[in-house]
Amino acid sequence: MDYEVVIGLEVHAQLLTRSKMFCGDSADYDGAPPNTHVCPICLGMPGVLPVINAQAVEYTVMTALALNCQIPEFAKFDRKNYPYPDLMKGYQISQYDLPLSVNGWLEIDTSGSSSAPLSAGLEGGTRRIGIRRVHLEEDTAKLVHMGGYSLVDVNRSGVPLMEIVSEPDIRSAEEARLYLIKLRQILRWIGVSSGDMEAGALRCDANISVRPKGATELGVKTEVKNMNSFRAVKLALEYEAQRQIDILKRGGTIHQETRGWVESEGRTVGQRSKEFAHDYRYFPEPDLPPLVHTRERVAEIRAKLPELPDERRRRFVAAYGLSAYDAEVLTAERPVSDYFEAAVKAAPPGVEPKAVANWVAGELFRLMKAQEVGIDAVQVRPAQIGALQALVQSGNISISMAKMVFDEMFATGKDATIIVRERGLTQISDADQLGDVIDQVIAGNPQAAADYRSGKEVALRFLVGQVMKATRGQANPGLATEILQGKLK
Ligand code: ADP
Ligand code: MG
Repeated sequence: MDYEVVIGLEVHAQLLTRSKMFCGDSADYDGAPPNTHVCPICLGMPGVLPVINAQAVEYTVMTALALNCQIPEFAKFDRKNYPYPDLMKGYQISQYDLPLSVNGWLEIDTSGSSSAPLSAGLEGGTRRIGIRRVHLEEDTAKLVHMGGYSLVDVNRSGVPLMEIVSEPDIRSAEEARLYLIKLRQILRWIGVSSGDMEAGALRCDANISVRPKGATELGVKTEVKNMNSFRAVKLALEYEAQRQIDILKRGGTIHQETRGWVESEGRTVGQRSKEFAHDYRYFPEPDLPPLVHTRERVAEIRAKLPELPDERRRRFVAAYGLSAYDAEVLTAERPVSDYFEAAVKAAPPGVEPKAVANWVAGELFRLMKAQEVGIDAVQVRPAQIGALQALVQSGNISISMAKMVFDEMFATGKDATIIVRERGLTQISDADQLGDVIDQVIAGNPQAAADYRSGKEVALRFLVGQVMKATRGQANPGLATEILQGKLK
């Protein structure tokens, strides 16, 4: 029997607010000594009162709108009770039945993989994954296990944490990876979270089940935790799907449980049987008012959203004639995308966006990667890209010289024209001057010249190479080819 994999993801993202969710402590605790970002509120002392962080609420609604969710007029906070030592109050303030947002969706591009489009009317290879809800809660303290005993670091306790819950619409481990990448792109793009999985600012719990292909009922699921990279999510889900299929094929049954991914062993292991909602004894948080969003307020928050990556990607294709691939890589990160667009706008007349895209996605990305530099540290200013391309188009420098010039621009931030002048790099496009060099090259390579005359086309390329060498790369290769052909007739 063939099986189908069903996955739904619960993603937690720390919000980039200055202060914590319900107190004034700084939420930027990264690198701080343990237990230095604490106060009676996030320590869970009796008698204190939480105060809602308005910025965290706004970020959550922004995220929800970016994910096409509806924002109900009323939402509230609830207490979720559980007795873990990382929970200072013995309960987490979360949202249960009236979350800040519901019913959204996110599109992933699966054209690189084999799954078929789920809904009609979408671009080829696009799948729409439902978002059940985006809600707001608080992070827990961190336990540091010392072997035999554990230490508690309260710095993380009370940091605003947003939870994004998908519908069980994901059909493969690869789709889960694409969903996460897309979600992270949006969170970073709108500036609400760093999305840093290694630092724990973005965490993913994956619910997974399998069922006979064609079945409409959901199978029993397990929940996999502990994956801290996109790759780990994919590997863990591939493993877990196969484990479940193997059990069913042997006639066994799946038990609902929480499992942990053990990276070093490449497998998931059972951790505890699943808790249910009634285990948490949810009840409305009595110390906080409900959250009310008038339609005017929602419109106000919507107006704060920037152009989103999908929109921008489509616009780059339509307005600038970029290929789907170029548009994709040039909208992966907003600062890079802004950089590219600034370069297009500053380019001299006659320099096409496509040529600017080639420089940014080609040489610039290559050097940034090789030297591990982010776009904010790049010394080349956007306007310098088009100016360089203009020198190529006017025939002043060849494309290979331009690449050398770009290396130096990247290292020094100097203008292309200055580097060309300093290095004496202008291209020789003068037929007389080139003619002399070519005469010498033909005289010095009689065998190649004879080969070409007897019909060996490759010999011509060799001779052009010799001309380039003799001029230290400064000959205009097109002109050199023409003159060579003329002289060898
Ligand atoms: P729970 O109450 O166990 O947390 P929920 O129904 O609230 O379960 O769903 C939590 C997550 O699990 C959601 O992302 C949802 O899409 C996903 N999910 C629910 N049922 C299944 C299933 N049978 N297989 C895979 N994912 C599922
Ligand atoms: Mg769950």
